[in-house]
Amino acid sequence: MDWDIVIGLEVHVQLNTKTKAFCACKVSYGDPPNTHVCPVCLGYPGSLPVLNRAVVDSAIKLGLATHCRIREYNTFARKNYFYPDLPKGYQISQYKDPICYEGYVDIAVRGEQKRIGLTRIHIEEDAGKSMHGEDGTLVDLNRCGTPLLEIVSEPDIHAPEEAYTYLNTLKQIVRYTGISDCNMEEGSMRCDANISIKPKGRKALGTRTELKNMNSFRNVERALKYEAERQRKVLESGAAVTQQTLLWDEQSNQTKAMRSKEDSHDYRYFPEPDLSPLRIDDAWIGRIRSSLPELPDARKKRFTELYGLTEEDAALLSSEKEIADYFENSLQTFNNPRLTGNWVKNEILRILSESGKSAAESPVTPAALAGLLQFLHNNTITPQTAKTVLDEMAATGKAAADIIRDKGLEQISDSSELESLIETILKENPAECERYRGGETKLLAFFIGQVMRGTKGKADQTLTRKILEKKLG
Ligand SMILES: [Zn+2]
Repeated sequence: MDWDIVIGLEVHVQLNTKTKAFCACKVSYGDPPNTHVCPVCLGYPGSLPVLNRAVVDSAIKLGLATHCRIREYNTFARKNYFYPDLPKGYQISQYKDPICYEGYVDIAVRGEQKRIGLTRIHIEEDAGKSMHGEDGTLVDLNRCGTPLLEIVSEPDIHAPEEAYTYLNTLKQIVRYTGISDCNMEEGSMRCDANISIKPKGRKALGTRTELKNMNSFRNVERALKYEAERQRKVLESGAAVTQQTLLWDEQSNQTKAMRSKEDSHDYRYFPEPDLSPLRIDDAWIGRIRSSLPELPDARKKRFTELYGLTEEDAALLSSEKEIADYFENSLQTFNNPRLTGNWVKNEILRILSESGKSAAESPVTPAALAGLLQFLHNNTITPQTAKTVLDEMAATGKAAADIIRDKGLEQISDSSELESLIETILKENPAECERYRGGETKLLAFFIGQVMRGTKGKADQTLTRKILEKKLG
């Protein structure tokens, strides 16, 4: 029997506002435990929360970037449960009326565009953190009250790889808006998934399980693959899937039962009496709309149309706002999109990953790269030399022109100089000459290699090839 897979994702994004959602404590990760706390986020009786406007701004930003409707009248709700890292005994969240709703994200799967609906995006405060050690459990309440957005997708995802692509696309959008760095490994983006399967074409959904504890997009994909397969085996054996929460175990590559399902009514949501309703008017939405940058999809489209880049290159160069900005800033100095695109994609990204820096902090500035590429474009230096020069630019911060001049790296395109070198090489390699003349023309690469070695990579390749072909022919 064929099965349909139905996946829904709940993503939590940690916002990078300066202060917490309902108090003036600093949002800061990695500081000594319990140093950013106050009566409000510690839940002292009688303390009152005050909504942080920047949190609302962030929610509207993401809502607009994902084509959501923005709710005019918003209320907050208490989500009640007991846990030692939640001193108030509840989280302030939104329940029936999320700030953003009915949005979508377009993803590219197998060369086609697919639209994933968003049910809602709502504001929520985070809980603290329990640290389980050998001597017991300690609690750090710095994270209590830090702002989150929860993004809930419609059950439009029908394959684990679509979930992977959706998460990547969502992350790109969030990072473009600048409201979070969305790093799943560091916990600033977290994802829970639910999955069910049903006989192909049937309308009614099957019993779903929830998956938690996945700390990378790849693990979400792996866990969903594993779980779809597990459910299929259960159903094909004639048994029923149990509704439950499962933890992904990275070591054994399996899901493991955590606890039986807690239904949402267990949280006993009720209206937060300490916060008045929040009204968002059109002027507020308009202000946020005008502050949004061009988003990844639009930028990618522009890169293909304006610069003639391939889909693949445009997608890569627009994947991060900083990289896209780097690329376009470089074009301001030297407008050769394809050449620049190739060098950003291959060499600059390599240098950034080796140095652990972001594109905005690149040791080679966009203008400096443009300077180097001009020398390459006018054939002053060979591509091989250009790479060496770039590495030295990254290491020393010197300009391409200085390195090329100081080290005498200009390309050798003087034919008499190359000719005499080539004659020496041919004399030193009589056997290869014989074989070449006997039809083994692929030996040309060997001779070019010899010339490059003799000139430390500075010989003009086209000219070298021409002279070699003439002399060997
Ligand atoms: Zn506080």
